Amino acid sequence: MSPIRGVVTLMNFDERFQRAAEPIKVDVTRFLADLVERPSLSRDENATVQRIGEEMQAVGFDEVVVDGFGSAIGRIGDGPVHIVLDSHIDVVDTGDLSLWKSDPFKARIENGILYGRGASDNKAAIASMVHGAGLLRTLDVDTSRFTLWVVGTVQEEDCDGLALEYLLTNTIPKAEVVVLGEATNLQVYRGHRGRAEFAIHTAGVAAHASAPERGVNAIYRMAPIAEQIESLNDRLAHDDFLGKGTVVVSKVECQTPSLNAVPDGCTIYLDRRLTIGETVESARHELESLPAVLDGEATVELLTYEGKAYTGLTLSTDKYFPTWITSEDHPSVRAAVEAGELSLARTPNVGRWVFSTNGVSSAGKLGIPTIGFGPANEIHAHSVDDQCPVDDLWVAAAWYASFPERYVTVAGAS
Ligand SMILES: [Zn+2]
Repeated sequence: MSPIRGVVTLMNFDERFQRAAEPIKVDVTRFLADLVERPSLSRDENATVQRIGEEMQAVGFDEVVVDGFGSAIGRIGDGPVHIVLDSHIDVVDTGDLSLWKSDPFKARIENGILYGRGASDNKAAIASMVHGAGLLRTLDVDTSRFTLWVVGTVQEEDCDGLALEYLLTNTIPKAEVVVLGEATNLQVYRGHRGRAEFAIHTAGVAAHASAPERGVNAIYRMAPIAEQIESLNDRLAHDDFLGKGTVVVSKVECQTPSLNAVPDGCTIYLDRRLTIGETVESARHELESLPAVLDGEATVELLTYEGKAYTGLTLSTDKYFPTWITSEDHPSVRAAVEAGELSLARTPNVGRWVFSTNGVSSAGKLGIPTIGFGPANEIHAHSVDDQCPVDDLWVAAAWYASFPERYVTVAGAS
């Protein structure tokens, strides 16, 4: 048994994890292929959920259920420390099919890489998590010290955090730590910027376009607002770890009686990324304080999301997804790094995601320490080259198998 990727073997490398994980390579790869071949766009995840439930049962989970919002939930063990491994299982649509080298919903394996929609984001992780949890049985790990939950959450692409928040509130209210499987390239991540979606509305007075002086043009009222938002972007807060807050005007709409009229309404939509120290209140206040917003008597609105799950349950939420960060010396981060040394024979890097994840609810809203470890590289998410190396699958499974015991030990000692 050689350590992965030729890195120098560490003192605390425990080859049992790789020795148990490598033989599952065929099974975990087949499982990922099955998941890719069940399309599972947001709000249509039922077939994928059923397939995950079957695999959980096959590898020896103690309990497998589907919650009211439709997420797959499996449990192993019944100890006092509740550890949650979460991957979302919905995918974004394909975009222009002609840009794909093969059918996005047929798994294609070439040179050790599995291609298909959702491979990197985020089906590889649920495949590895299910089989990693199954390795607890093979390795005869003492599961009386923790309860390991593996969850495949729905609707993340539509509204990050919504399904996980429902699950952590209703089914697993005692979660002590959450591990997200969003792609980290087998490194450890511990946060990302938050975000909020706003709309700004201006009102005008409609008039015939042949006599514009009789009306008030809502678009002209909006124009200086858009310019001031562009310059606001340069002044937003910066954080050395998470990066800078940003704001983008992402869409414009107007309301007008006809193409021969002065429009009486204009709306712009904003994507606001929030770094440390920025909140929805501070972001709203900045917008409401722009001189052009005040002069143009514009209104600022925080958008809301309403999503009906395939189960029929509808949940709604403000489109505010808080910034979160788990400190580098938190037991979850230390245990994650140690689990890497144990199972991967290398010390993982500790970093952060560029995009947003379900951590906005687990860490951002509910305050549950959250970290990330996942197979695949995040650069392939949502792309026509969506892919995951098949060796990442069993390697990640080894890490998922090693983390729970490590976490209980590190947290118990601190
Ligand atoms: Zn994702």
